[in-house]
Amino acid sequence: MEPRRAIFLDRDNTLNVDRDGYVGDWKKIELFPEVIPVLRAMRSASYLLFLVTNQSGVGRGYFSLEDVDKCNRRLLELIGDGHIFAEICVSTGTPERPDPRRKPSPKFPLEMCAKFSLHPGRCWVIGDGPCDMEMAERAGMRGLYLVREQKKKVCPPACDGDRPMEGKCPSFQDLADAWNHIKIMELSTGKNAPDAGLACLPEESPADGQENGIGGPGSKNRRQTATGAENLTKIGKDIEAKN
Ligand SMILES: [Mg+2]
Repeated sequence: MEPRRAIFLDRDNTLNVDRDGYVGDWKKIELFPEVIPVLRAMRSASYLLFLVTNQSGVGRGYFSLEDVDKCNRRLLELIGDGHIFAEICVSTGTPERPDPRRKPSPKFPLEMCAKFSLHPGRCWVIGDGPCDMEMAERAGMRGLYLVREQKKKVCPPACDGDRPMEGKCPSFQDLADAWNHIKIMELSTGKNAPDAGLACLPEESPADGQENGIGGPGSKNRRQTATGAENLTKIGKDIEAKN
């Protein structure tokens, strides 16, 4: 049987518009126009999808984890499929008070690989932050870097704690461009084995599960299975209580 493939997606400025660097109000969730058809195409092509998002606004007290849950619920509502993501992974840490799963940590994606029997080398990461690409590199996945015009206009040049990209990963204008790249690399050729091609490749093989905290204490409480509003809210409260 062909191994399962997966795509790990950043949230803000990758799926939804990020006007000021923090998205904590569900009423302001606005998807980029290509997002819905592209996510559906990814699922139709049998890719598992994961949402991996840093929400330092929680750690900084700008909004609550419940607000993040509401934003995620709104996102799913707009997409029109509450089950489109196998899991939603939220880190509420800040650079000053780091969370061990905060991007660029590879812990979340490696935990998902262990849970869903995925090989990191068959997974992609798409995001607009250097932290997304560093996470991909450290997890042994292939990173595709989004450079949206909107971010250039409204956001500071680097997000908190992010390293410069140094031109290491291929850049794409939007999610559709990145998805086309994946299709060219994996689907159009008809080959089972992924060809790294232009993708951002890890410099080292991924660390083992122990070092990356797979199944480590508290890991479950920081993940959300996108099975609906109730579950998102419930787990959110668990996380809040833990913190
Ligand atoms: Mg982002």
